[in-house]
Amino acid sequence: MHNFPPPTEFLKKHDLRKTPCRMAILESFLNTQTALSHQNIEEFVGEEFDRVTIYRTLTAFEEKGILHKVPDMSGQTKYALCESNCEEHQHKENHVHFKCQKCENVYCLSQIQLPDLHLPQGYKVEEAEFLLSGTCEKCNF
Ligand SMILES: [Zn+2]
Ligand SMILES: [Zn+2]
Ligand SMILES: [Zn+2]
Repeated sequence: MHNFPPPTEFLKKHDLRKTPCRMAILESFLNTQTALSHQNIEEFVGEEFDRVTIYRTLTAFEEKGILHKVPDMSGQTKYALCESNCEEHQHKENHVHFKCQKCENVYCLSQIQLPDLHLPQGYKVEEAEFLLSGTCEKCNF
């Protein structure tokens, strides 16, 4: 598990004004500590905020370097909190994601060392996604 700062710190660091929707969405991520889809977030805060506001907030968070997109084998877009070094329009995530087949949560596993890939000559990587699936710590307990 990661140690993330409180929601107000996130917003301050990224020059975002504190709004109830931003606070509520950040809290959803901090409380669950897993990747969340738009639909998951609506389940948490959908009574208070409409779809469009939630959508705009997620997009702004991704641009600002607060959330990163997480691959999910279902093709659904999920987001997870960025580690502290992401900047606006410049994500520095380079970690493995793990999807649990039982609880369907997707976790960021930033403590794992990624393997060195030796590409054939002439190939250059711009983006990479590492997604593993299996059963998570909680489900195996
Ligand atoms: Zn990021
Ligand atoms: Zn699980
Ligand atoms: Zn991640």
